[in-house]
Amino acid sequence: MIREPGRSVKPLAPRPGHLDNNSTKGEPEQAPSAGASAAPMSRPPSKLPEVGTTIFTVMSKLAADCGAINLSQGFPDFSAPAELLERVSHHLRAGHNQYAPMAGVAALREQLAEQIAFRLVEGEVTVTSGATEALFCAIQAFAHPGDEVMIFDPAYDAYEPAARLAGARAVHVPLTPPAFGIDWQRVRDSLTARTRVIVLNSPHNPTGAVLDAADLEALAAIVRDRPIVLVSDEVYEHIIFDGRRHESLLRHAELAERALVISSFGKTYHATGWKIGYCVAPAPLMGEFRKVHQFVQFCVVTPMQLALADFMDSTPEHYLDLPAFYQAKRDLFCELLAPSRFRFTPSPGTYFQLVDYGAISPEPDVDFARRLTRETGVAAIPISVFCQQPPTRRWLRFCFAKEARTLERAAQLLCRL
Ligand code: PMP
Ligand code: GLN
Repeated sequence: MIREPGRSVKPLAPRPGHLDNNSTKGEPEQAPSAGASAAPMSRPPSKLPEVGTTIFTVMSKLAADCGAINLSQGFPDFSAPAELLERVSHHLRAGHNQYAPMAGVAALREQLAEQIAFRLVEGEVTVTSGATEALFCAIQAFAHPGDEVMIFDPAYDAYEPAARLAGARAVHVPLTPPAFGIDWQRVRDSLTARTRVIVLNSPHNPTGAVLDAADLEALAAIVRDRPIVLVSDEVYEHIIFDGRRHESLLRHAELAERALVISSFGKTYHATGWKIGYCVAPAPLMGEFRKVHQFVQFCVVTPMQLALADFMDSTPEHYLDLPAFYQAKRDLFCELLAPSRFRFTPSPGTYFQLVDYGAISPEPDVDFARRLTRETGVAAIPISVFCQQPPTRRWLRFCFAKEARTLERAAQLLCRL
């Protein structure tokens, strides 16, 4: 390890579930260049010292190493629609291979504006490199050093590092189990004069919880007259079950005025590897967002944007059918898992099912998830890695965006425990 002169370097404990295989660990010391003194080069301190490799990378690698069924990282094991893929090759061959406009291809932005028009108050759309880039840009654009960014635990792992890299502090407010609703009084109590951004996520990863219209009213009452920007992660907007309606912040005129609403084509079109998402916000907020986006990514892969625009135009039923499509998968998985010793309530949204494994093992979730992968042959995501305070129960997350035969094989193994 290279130490900075005069600075004692204390090893920092990794966050639970974040890995000990930090990519910088074990790196050889840099050899001095010709003519330089032999003194080792000082290494700047890490900006994210306790962050390791994400749990998704870790569990997917472990699943691959063990030959386990991978229900950990969220991605479908089935293909994107054939017509969408055909449109990609069409645009590749037609020579649409140069930079797209910074805000996104016009045809795709128009399709989005049409799709969300029924709930869009007044908004601009920017196409981004996945929802991840949009989340990062939104938080960088509005969180200043010393500000507070409120996030709800269990919280998707990308929120806090984005806040910290902006010099802000993440304030964690726990969701209330077992339904994982937001305790609005607790939100009120956690606000300070430094609260600048509140990050919402509905349908919620990893719990599947969804916000309802009363939640939006409670939020509006809290942020009214405060200089708070809302970053609303709605990547599972079309994956919501049992007749519930997705309560986008765009549906609420007062909230939409101060919201950046973020979504992902990866989830909607079964193509997580494309990493294409979008952000909708009123013009003044979008202006600030684009100032960051243009220097983080500038623009997003052209032929995929054109293909998505074509497919949205020709096949609007694709996203309209998603609730039924994924509800059938959720129901199958829950039915298959019913005889097991896992306890659960069917997920209200997302393609994740939260389960309580307390009747099977007293182990901490990270250990149990690793053992489940190695010994049972099914990989899952432990929930504690998304929480500042350890969760009160023993939860794992399974992804059911899988073919029926994958879910059947996995459930067969899980029912043996
Ligand atoms: N937010 C949530 C809640 C997610 O689950 C994901 C990805 N699974 C993202 C953001 C990132 O989306 P993308 O892959 O489009 O960057
Ligand atoms: N969002 C995906 C999940 O929750 C993973 C994305 C990633 O691997 N970074 O599983």
